[in-house]
Amino acid sequence: MTVRTRVAPSPTGDPHVGTAYIALFNLCFARAHGGQFLLRIEDTDQTRSTADSEQAILDSLRWLGLEWDEGPDVGGPHGPYRQSERMEIYGEYAAQLVAQGKAFTCYRTPTELDELREARRAAGTSTALKPSDLMLPEQELERRRAAGEPYVIRMMVPEEAGTCAIDDMLRGTIELDWGMVDAQVLLKSDGMPTYHLANVVDDHLMGITHVLRGEEHLVNTPKQLLLYAALGLEPPAFGHLPLMLGKDGRKLSKRSGDVSLDDYRAKGYPKEAIVNFLSLQGWALDGETEVFSVEQLVERFDIRDVSKAGAVFDLDKFQWLAGEYLRAEPAERTAERGLPFVVGAGLASEADLRARWDWFVAVVAGTRERVRLYSELPGWVDYLFASDDEVPFDEKAEKGARKHEDAAETLRAFRAWLAPRLEAGEAPDATGAAAKEWVAARGAKLPALFQPLRCALTGKPGGPDLFET
Ligand code: GLU
Repeated sequence: MTVRTRVAPSPTGDPHVGTAYIALFNLCFARAHGGQFLLRIEDTDQTRSTADSEQAILDSLRWLGLEWDEGPDVGGPHGPYRQSERMEIYGEYAAQLVAQGKAFTCYRTPTELDELREARRAAGTSTALKPSDLMLPEQELERRRAAGEPYVIRMMVPEEAGTCAIDDMLRGTIELDWGMVDAQVLLKSDGMPTYHLANVVDDHLMGITHVLRGEEHLVNTPKQLLLYAALGLEPPAFGHLPLMLGKDGRKLSKRSGDVSLDDYRAKGYPKEAIVNFLSLQGWALDGETEVFSVEQLVERFDIRDVSKAGAVFDLDKFQWLAGEYLRAEPAERTAERGLPFVVGAGLASEADLRARWDWFVAVVAGTRERVRLYSELPGWVDYLFASDDEVPFDEKAEKGARKHEDAAETLRAFRAWLAPRLEAGEAPDATGAAAKEWVAARGAKLPALFQPLRCALTGKPGGPDLFET
């Protein structure tokens, strides 16, 4: 069996970190088994789906390097991969179910549905509406049908108490109560399929063997298993991945932090760090190593190692990880990725930076020790682009400089000492070594010169080698 997995985002908003998280695990699982990974767009909710959102999702997943083998933009043998282009297919499946008595046409009005739910509530039963609740007397059904009233197609579901057993790849057997499952709408009155029908039909037709998705979909699985059975189809294996939780312990949402991949991109997180961080949300390489690549992840990935508990989305750790990546990459790349931020901050034009590229790379290499995100770079290099009298002073740097009482005197004397050396074009490290001797000869400690000097030159509490600067 060739393993085939998929990610199936609904294009109804910004590209969500959760989508990348699910995509990553599906990709790893497929790659680890020599299989294929697909991307399917679930846009049956036409009122909320937009082409812009779809494009943004594709762009951001591709930016992260989570490439799919088949999808709406790359095609493949099981297309189209956009549900809005597959409408007739779902209609045929719904008709087949009705013909076999496994689904039924329901003419109930919204008001009637409310009343029926109310009646169940009053009777102390669950409000999930069962086929028997919804059936109309034959005559009334005929009347509404003849009058051409709107209807939906609903699934037959068990009436009697009992449980549905789900064999979860992560969690083992889970039993859910059929009582909670109502006669799901499969096809809406406008002929549009619902999520359940389209999802099941497509997973079948696209040959999906394993569905790894968020825990929030666990409640959907009994309904979908029922549909597979009604259609006489073999269901895929299911694995429900732990939710990503905000610091408040609730599902990660806009309230608990940035959830859009675009935000992390705009803030200058290295994409490799994003992927690494997302993998840590449900998985650990060995319980110790936190920095690892997608290749390592694929090589070591075993779905049984994925934790069942929700993982807290720890922003501090995310930023720490971002810094680890940023410092480990070639400085040339940091410069390349940092460039738009330096330009965006209005410090220099791209042409200017490209014209003195080696210098810029050296600046970045010397500076990035303190940088975690590309967006932090301008704040560390701004002095290099400012005229002498407008170097912005960092409060901490200034305080550190001023705590040396004779700072001004030291700087004046140092300037006089330095001038001929600069004039003579002395190498920075030679100047540095001589400067240390100069300080010692004055009976002072190094910080007495270095702190005021750095502050005067850069306005920063730290940074690249002072004599290079
Ligand atoms: N379109 C669904 C979602 O975005 C897919 C759910 C599933 O993977 O089955 O959550």
